[in-house]
Amino acid sequence: MRKTYDTIVIGGGAAGLMSAVECKRLGQDILVIERNPRPGKKIALTGKGRCNVTTLNHDLSDLISKYQRNGKFLYGAFSRFSVQDTIDYFEKTLKIKLKTERGNRVFPVSNNAVDIIYALQKEISEDILPNTSVLSFKTEGNQIVSAVTYKGEFSAKRYILATGGKSYPITGSNGDGYTLAQSVGHTIVEPKPALVPIICKERWIKKLEGLSLLNVRITALQEKKKIVSKFGEAIFTDNGMSGPIIIDMSRYIGDALEKGKVELSIDFKPALNREVLDRRVISDFHLLRNKVFKNSLKRLLPSSLIPIVVQLSGIDPEKKVAEISKDERGKLVNLLKDFRLNVLKLDGWEKAIVTAGGVDIKEIDSTTMKSKLIENLYFAGEMIDVYGPTGGYNLQICWSTGILAARS
Ligand SMILES: Cc1cc2nc3c(=O)[nH]c(=O)nc-3n(C[C@H](O)[C@H](O)[C@H](O)COP(=O)(O)OP(=O)(O)OC[C@H]3O[C@@H](n4cnc5c(N)ncnc54)[C@H](O)[C@@H]3O)c2cc1C
Repeated sequence: MRKTYDTIVIGGGAAGLMSAVECKRLGQDILVIERNPRPGKKIALTGKGRCNVTTLNHDLSDLISKYQRNGKFLYGAFSRFSVQDTIDYFEKTLKIKLKTERGNRVFPVSNNAVDIIYALQKEISEDILPNTSVLSFKTEGNQIVSAVTYKGEFSAKRYILATGGKSYPITGSNGDGYTLAQSVGHTIVEPKPALVPIICKERWIKKLEGLSLLNVRITALQEKKKIVSKFGEAIFTDNGMSGPIIIDMSRYIGDALEKGKVELSIDFKPALNREVLDRRVISDFHLLRNKVFKNSLKRLLPSSLIPIVVQLSGIDPEKKVAEISKDERGKLVNLLKDFRLNVLKLDGWEKAIVTAGGVDIKEIDSTTMKSKLIENLYFAGEMIDVYGPTGGYNLQICWSTGILAARS
């Protein structure tokens, strides 16, 4: 007769491992089924290999307000397993020392994401079945009776589905968990890449590749209407833009692109209004009055940006600065305050940090993570239709929903 586990966890990512550790600690007989040779492949990439475990925010309503999609659904999980509970769990239970950096971002003191994976799997390493994908479920009425794999069928009293979304499919999350959920009646809200770089139409952008912008304001516009605007850091890529503020704005931009054209407006000097900036340019031009225009912007702009701004300004690059007219100076100031780029599209799943969309939250009990359709099915992590900005918010979803699914 086939063995019946207490819980089968499908997917050994952040959410699945957290669930499994907690089930084990609660004395359950568990099995983690993971398609990769080893669990936690995506965790290894998080926080540029350092793993931004969470965000240090103890104000629950403020924390929830930061989530870009279905934040209120997380109230049930975050009020039962908070940021502080997460920090305590890592430090006291899993013995991983954490530290808080700029922007309330929490990392392991070792700066090594692999330590997080090791801590999460050390107590359950015997319970992991690697190199195995769950292909389907067998059901009877509204119960799952087994998870079907090429290695056979595995049965449990209950199942936690933690197969992630569609982002970074190279890590194992190719979206087939959605098919599993759908096969037992769940609705999947169309998955779309989120927290993803943006591709622009302008070919000359390649010349700016690698240029980082600090303290800029970028606004996304559709037919002159503001969609979203953020202040902070961004970076030019070979075909568009990335960096924290672009990544955080990307899904809003993606949604707007479905309706029409989107432009980015970059304010390189957000601390100066147009009048003050104009006075600053006048004073620079006065100092450099014997220079030609193309050699006059070093105090205002990074060097790789100067030829582009010179070209877009329409001012003769060889013109003596002293001869530049008020109108021409106005055009320059305009470019510095409102530098436009046309968005072509969002980059794809290979570069998306998370997935927007997934298992419909209306079909999950937010206080237990239990399916409202299937008696013995629970969900955890990115596969649920909820996501947050960069900075530890997405792993916090995994820790809280993972623990809740285990404890329920
Ligand atoms: C480059 C990058 C950096 C990031 N940095 C951060 C950060 O610093 N902080 C932060 O909060 N968030 C970060 N994120 C987001 C965060 O990593 C994810 O939201 C989180 O890891 C999702 O965890 P998960 O367990 O839900 O899914 P996943 O980590 O995707 O795990 C799902 C697991 O299920 C397995 N699986 C899938 N289908 C099956 C199947 N049918 N059978 C068996 N196994 C299956 C997969 O192989 C995988 O191991 C980052 C994401 C990326 C891509």
